Amino acid sequence: MTDEQLYESLTAFQSSGRNLWLDATAEQWNDHRWQLKNRVSSLAALEEKMSLTAEERAGVLLAGNKLAMSITPHFFQLIDRDDPSCPIRRQVIPRMEEAWTAPDEMADPCGEDSHMPVPGLVHRYPDRVLFLVTDRCASYCRYCTRSRVVSGVGDQQLEIQWEAAFRYLEQHHEVRDVLLSGGDPLLLSDDKLDRILTRLRSIPHIQFVRIGSRIPLFLPQRITPELCAILQKHHPLFLSIHTNHPKELTTEVRLGLERLANAGIPLGNQSVLLRGVNDSPIVQRALVHKLLMCRVRPYYLYQCDLINGSSHLRTTVATGLSIIEQLRGHTTGYGIPQYVIDGPGGGGKIPLNPEYILNRQPGRVMLRNYENEVFEYPDPPQIPDSVLSELFQQSEQPTDTEHVGHHVSATL
Ligand SMILES: *Cc1c(COP(=O)(O)O)cnc(C)c1O
Ligand code: SF4
Repeated sequence: MTDEQLYESLTAFQSSGRNLWLDATAEQWNDHRWQLKNRVSSLAALEEKMSLTAEERAGVLLAGNKLAMSITPHFFQLIDRDDPSCPIRRQVIPRMEEAWTAPDEMADPCGEDSHMPVPGLVHRYPDRVLFLVTDRCASYCRYCTRSRVVSGVGDQQLEIQWEAAFRYLEQHHEVRDVLLSGGDPLLLSDDKLDRILTRLRSIPHIQFVRIGSRIPLFLPQRITPELCAILQKHHPLFLSIHTNHPKELTTEVRLGLERLANAGIPLGNQSVLLRGVNDSPIVQRALVHKLLMCRVRPYYLYQCDLINGSSHLRTTVATGLSIIEQLRGHTTGYGIPQYVIDGPGGGGKIPLNPEYILNRQPGRVMLRNYENEVFEYPDPPQIPDSVLSELFQQSEQPTDTEHVGHHVSATL
């Protein structure tokens, strides 16, 4: 396949189909409760649908007390069952390598537990908090940075103290931005989400609310008109989705995203840079172009956190920088995410950019553009006093105001 053909196939919107669940009716298939109930969550269910590699089989057996396996039928349909290196497959089917903890890896790589003033509330930045509202997701990503609490089988349990969390937010007037995450907040019922958002909206100093969710990709059936109507009541509300590969953007997903966008919800995307999934310029280009077609603005590209058991999915930083360099200038600026590393141990997000400043001298910078041409940009000069007094003198001489007025109206 040429690069052009690959790009064409990656940017095409396709339905997930449902040929592995032919006994399901269309109504069942489109019902998010049916999708959740029929998730592939055991080795037996998985092997009934596909044959695994030895590494995957061992991975599934070892995953049981770390991070559960669970794959919605919708997402499962996207797996290429004949290709062990399928990028969808690598994201959700455990591999044996996951059970090895590499040097430098951690259970809590972003140091969240040590920044919780109240269980469930991470307050790291001056004006915004991360509010973990559930420990469950529709499917589980093998590189999940919160695998210590997500899915309910790991070492820790997510403790949420609702009343204490809301009281903290009410008392902390510096918090103007609340990010709901988890787990996946859109897995909560419409009613529960409405109650959480209503309570947050009753706090006057909270200006901005956003939700982080992978549900639009894992379970697009959940994006119902009813859900959108509830979210719409709590504007300004933003939604950050989590898409890693263009194949995830199916026709069903596009419909859900269209509903959300039509409800006035600004959509952003967060991707994790993953080896064998999206660590190539062509896949990233197709991903960001497809996101823009779905009215989603790429927001962050994350270097994969040092989560336990992630070495086989992590890339070098050089890979990420090279991808950004191959996007910037070459394609739509709206399509370019900010590449970030969450500082290991709790540093927060640190932006990484290719170097465009070649050198900085007093009075000027030397720059290069995306084509490696060199430019010089000078600092602004001081206007000499003699010039200023000359201009004052000129301004005191009579002017032809009629002529000035005529000129202005001609411009308008
Ligand atoms: C990512 C994150 C936020 C939000 O950061 P933005 O750069 O505003 O998107 C807030 N709190 C925590 C703990 C986070 O990890
Ligand atoms: S959807 Fe998010 S929280 Fe859930 S498993 Fe994936 S990365 Fe973790």
